[in-house]
Amino acid sequence: MKKYVKFNKEKILIVNKNYRLSRFFNPRKLNKELLKQYDVMWQAAQKDKINLNIVSGYRSYKYQQKLLKEYLRVDNVENVKKYLAMPGHSEHQTGLAIDLINTESKLIKKYRKEYKWLYNNTYKYGFILRYPKGKENITGYKYEPWHFRYVGKNLAKELYNSGDYLTLEEYFHLNNKKR
Ligand SMILES: [Zn+2]
Repeated sequence: MKKYVKFNKEKILIVNKNYRLSRFFNPRKLNKELLKQYDVMWQAAQKDKINLNIVSGYRSYKYQQKLLKEYLRVDNVENVKKYLAMPGHSEHQTGLAIDLINTESKLIKKYRKEYKWLYNNTYKYGFILRYPKGKENITGYKYEPWHFRYVGKNLAKELYNSGDYLTLEEYFHLNNKKR
């Protein structure tokens, strides 16, 4: 059930609207390598007077179920699916995704200076902007300027694509039509 794609000798875990994780996939915390690279990136950002914080990291299957329940109290399922991953379909369950805020606890948005820095620098540390603008039909998710996925430096550089971000779905020709 778990979907991996191969990049050189690396195995890249894919989670999207088509490929899901079971409720038993439970790394319990953020990936070690991700944290190491985040630290290096955080320090580089500081040097450029950019302050970063992780607002959401690892999220369990159970937690995603809880979120879904809460959202469904105030919105219908079709709408909720556009911005919330169904349990098992959240990249946060992999321990390889982070949502970032600045020190004023504001989610990273396109007009913020932090975003500009992240957009052009995260790939150097192995992170990619996972849900770019204009790729909603490919990823199945709305543009999320705060959500970054760790894929390692080599693949991140490929996907950064000189600033014209490619999605994992495009690069690995993954069919992601199912919603
Ligand atoms: Zn996220």
